[in-house]
Amino acid sequence: MFSWSDYHPGLSSCRAMLKEVAALYRRLDEAVAACDQAAPCRACGNCCDFEAFGHRLYITTPELLYFAHHVGRPLKPMTDGVCPYRIDGRCSIYPRRFVGCRIFQCGGSAAAQSDLTEATLKQLKHLCRQFRVPYYYMDLKTALNSP
Ligand code: SF4
Ligand code: SF4
Repeated sequence: MFSWSDYHPGLSSCRAMLKEVAALYRRLDEAVAACDQAAPCRACGNCCDFEAFGHRLYITTPELLYFAHHVGRPLKPMTDGVCPYRIDGRCSIYPRRFVGCRIFQCGGSAAAQSDLTEATLKQLKHLCRQFRVPYYYMDLKTALNSP
C-alpha cells in the first residue's frame, strides 16, 4: 500500500523522475490532441464527479509524486465521489492533472484511449524501475487519502 512516509521531497530519485514525468505529459498531450481532434474535451468537469458520471480514475506512483510536488501537500482528501480539485465545476490544477484526466475524452474513441493508456502505463512502470520507486496503481480516492 502506498504511504507518504516512504517518500520525501528531497529524495533524489524522485526529483529526477519528476522531470521525466513532465516530459511524458508533454508527449501525452500531443498524442491526445492528435487522436481526438474530432471530439476535443470541453473541460466541463462533469467526469470529475466520478459517482455521477459512472467513471473511475486510477493513478500511479509517478503521477502522484509529480502532483504532490507541484500542488503541495497535504493533498485534499476525497470525501465523496467528486475529485476535490474540481472547484466551481473546473479543474483547479489543470496543468498538473493525471494521465487518466488527460486521456479520457467522453466523445473520443474508447479503443484509442485504451491503447494510449496501456502505452503510458508501460512508460510509468519503466520510470519506477529506472528510478527505483515502487510502482502502485491505485484509484484516486485511495491515493488522495493515503496516510
Ligand atoms: S471528457 Fe467530457 S465530461 Fe469530461 S471534462 Fe471533457 S467534455 Fe467534460
Ligand atoms: S485532477 Fe482535475 S481533471 Fe482530474 S479528476 Fe481532478 S478535477 Fe478532474
